[in-house]
Amino acid sequence: MDIKKIVEDFQNCVCGKKHTVGIREVVVGSGVTKDAGKILKRNGFGKNLLLVADENTLRAAEGLVNALLAEGFTLSQKIYENLRVADMREVEKTERLLQNADGVIAVGTGSVHDTCRMASARQKKLLCLFPTAASMDGFASYNAPLTDHNFKITYAAKTPEVIIADTKVLVNAPDELKSAGFGDMVGKYVALIDWQVSNLVSGEYYCPKVAELTRNATDKIMSIADQILSKEESAAKEVFEALLLTGIGMAFTQNSRPASGTEHILSHFWECIELSHHHLSDFHGKKVGVATLLIMDEYEKMVQKEKITAHKEVVDWDEVYRHYGDLADEVRKLNTPDTITDSIAPETIEKNWPKIREIVKSVPSRKEIYDAMKLAGCVTDCSEIGVSEFLKNEGLRYHPYMRRRVSLMRLKNMID
Ligand SMILES: [Zn+2]
Ligand SMILES: [Zn+2]
Repeated sequence: MDIKKIVEDFQNCVCGKKHTVGIREVVVGSGVTKDAGKILKRNGFGKNLLLVADENTLRAAEGLVNALLAEGFTLSQKIYENLRVADMREVEKTERLLQNADGVIAVGTGSVHDTCRMASARQKKLLCLFPTAASMDGFASYNAPLTDHNFKITYAAKTPEVIIADTKVLVNAPDELKSAGFGDMVGKYVALIDWQVSNLVSGEYYCPKVAELTRNATDKIMSIADQILSKEESAAKEVFEALLLTGIGMAFTQNSRPASGTEHILSHFWECIELSHHHLSDFHGKKVGVATLLIMDEYEKMVQKEKITAHKEVVDWDEVYRHYGDLADEVRKLNTPDTITDSIAPETIEKNWPKIREIVKSVPSRKEIYDAMKLAGCVTDCSEIGVSEFLKNEGLRYHPYMRRRVSLMRLKNMID
């Protein structure tokens, strides 16, 4: 993948923002693990390298350690048994290990990558991601979603300098993770709706070109839904590159808007509540896929109305905080002294309603997304991700308050 070419295409963008990305090189291909040492060397990685992985991902990355040693790297290693939650405590531990290293290679997916992304950003060290499954889209992203005392926050961190993706490794990832990657991708349709709606009613920054990048990548994945579980490396490559592109979109805007909407917040709500009850949540992409179907259902119902009247948002904050339990303080911080909807005039929503309807109808329908998810082997129901009927409804009702962000879901409270 020619990252320089992609960045060039985004120069002098219509949105007025300068789009840059800190990624120096992306190598996607069959058997590229053996070149890892050379790739890191030519991208300026110093001799002392910290390798972070878990037992499964290290096994999947067969040949990687030898490839690094062969090029003269000295490795220190941090191998987890199975790291499922990216938590601030792990970031701090990784930071301490990084003090004696020139850079880090993170072998795995979400949790391993996110802790290393944050730790290397804080320690100003080089970062290489070595994904072992195309299970989510955050690889090229600038952000690290992390839990801190069970509350999930998306922190600004950094993009990796290098990404090495061996399609031989990706194709052998468990089916569950491949389907999860698909679930994460379909969420982009909701993300694109929310971003455009927010731009309309609150004037939030929006880049049509980045949105188009995400849209094309998502459409591409939808079109190969039946190949997601394929054993062909060519399919694994296409899926990985599409996931990577949406991450590059996030790097271009330096926020998660292009690829993460209210469906991600709903998924984070479930995760936080489960964590606060000491339950380990299911894979990110599985939850996001299920949340996407629920939100699309809500949005389709909303836009059935040709005309609406709107009013200022009325929130019983005590009730909201009650439903957040131990996390109430964090949510309170995000909504005091003012909340994100304060500056939105009800008339703006009324006036823009025809446009909002068009925006919702511009993406594939819930039914089309559902059918594609079935083809891709995704789970589609809360019962399959351990989310009870009660938690599902709590999430649908209260999730928008845990972010300072406008979404169509949040505006629902302002529409009669
Ligand atoms: Zn732009
Ligand atoms: Zn995601």
